[in-house]
Amino acid sequence: MNYVEKVLAKLKKQNPGEPEFHQAATEILTSLEVVMEKHPEYEKAGLLERFVEPERVIMFRVPWVDDKGKVQVNKGYRVQFNSAIGPYKGGLRFHPSVNLSIIKFLGLEQILKNSLTGLPIGGGKGGSNFDPKGKSDREIMAFCQSFMTELQRHIGQDTDVPAGDIGVGGREIGFLFGQYKKIRDEHVGVLTGRGLTYGGSLARTEATGYGLVYMTAEAMKMRGDSFEGKTVVISGSGNVAIYACQKAQSLGAKVVAMYDSNGYIYDPNGIQLDVVRDIKEVKRGRIKEYAERVAGATYTEGCKGIWAIPCDVALPCATQNEIDEESAKLLVANGVKYVAEGANMPSTLKAIETFQSAGIVFLPAKAANAGGVATSALEMAQSSQRLFWTFEEVDAKLNQIMVNIYHNIDNAAKKYGMDGNYVAGANIAGFEKVAEAMMAQGVV
Ligand code: NDP
Repeated sequence: MNYVEKVLAKLKKQNPGEPEFHQAATEILTSLEVVMEKHPEYEKAGLLERFVEPERVIMFRVPWVDDKGKVQVNKGYRVQFNSAIGPYKGGLRFHPSVNLSIIKFLGLEQILKNSLTGLPIGGGKGGSNFDPKGKSDREIMAFCQSFMTELQRHIGQDTDVPAGDIGVGGREIGFLFGQYKKIRDEHVGVLTGRGLTYGGSLARTEATGYGLVYMTAEAMKMRGDSFEGKTVVISGSGNVAIYACQKAQSLGAKVVAMYDSNGYIYDPNGIQLDVVRDIKEVKRGRIKEYAERVAGATYTEGCKGIWAIPCDVALPCATQNEIDEESAKLLVANGVKYVAEGANMPSTLKAIETFQSAGIVFLPAKAANAGGVATSALEMAQSSQRLFWTFEEVDAKLNQIMVNIYHNIDNAAKKYGMDGNYVAGANIAGFEKVAEAMMAQGVV
């Protein structure tokens, strides 16, 4: 067994019942074998063992009272994974599927993603198995206040700066920030994705979706190609999906399908994004309604069928493992040319292999969706300066960061003889900086 295999075997043994964490660690560590060969000193320093072990895991009870006066109890998590290059940074996810395995996989990915942005941010992630769906605004507030009552003692603008993720948008960040401020009595940049009236950055809302499209556009440009006239399928209809759709459409693409967790819509004339936004953002309704409102569009119950729709570009923007091997094969058979991940780990390991062996341009999440956290870091910079930049300034910086990440992962893949393998490129480029910082800081 080589060093990577030993670390992976130990990780699986010591962290049983955490399949998503095993999956992410396997994908990352396997592509770092070449780095370990070049740096034998890392094994002696136990670098990988330290890299896969969170610096701190916080788990807590979140009690709150529902509208019927009944006390509900959820689980709260914050995994402070790695602070070698900056304060922990990463979103909070509120979804019934949340457990320690999911938060740890997201946290591990986040370390490398944050490193790739080129900005000084470490990796962390958190959340709860709370389901915001169907809850009143008062119930959401009660939950967020209880969650922050515990979390506030562990975070701070120079320690750990959470943001949104699935189920945590502007409304939730507002309630969380309000409670932090009340308890700690400080109006600081302790959360990102804040509203524009209380410290938020312009373009943060759009950043992940826009960034995804900026990177894909750069990959296309390098091949003498563009979004113009391309058929695009996007999964999800939340924050990332909506702004990916908006930017792709503005570059001349036709987005023909989107979904929510119940089913997908297909509109051969091109999705009308204002209708999707009205349903999902304003009414917090179901995407099914789109087919009732737009002539020529259809709705199909269940999500998987979306990948059978022929397209040039697939942008999975909903959740982990939404593209399995079978779906990947269908996409390839139907002529997909680019797959760029807006969601975190939306492709299974087998799906990634399918794309790569078919020669598809595959841009992995930790690079392709890094625009969100990069803009969060720009929000932190603005908070520290007590100054705000215009939308155009932030958007231009975001675009440049995404272009830089693309070339960094492309170069890293080439440097290790794996031209076009952006999974390896992203893992290696992200890891190199973290490894150097960890080595410099001694055994901590
Ligand atoms: P949102 O909560 O805004 O939207 C999530 C979307 O995905 C919704 O349409 C939701 O459907 C759908 N969805 C969630 N779970 C499932 C599921 N199990 N099956 C099918 N559909 C599902 O989240 P975001 O857009 O913020 O996040 C989407 C992805 O992007 C996540 O993987 C997140 O980690 C990642 N990401 C987000 C960033 C950000 O800045 N927001 C930054 C980087 C990555 P429904 O409406 O029915 O719930």
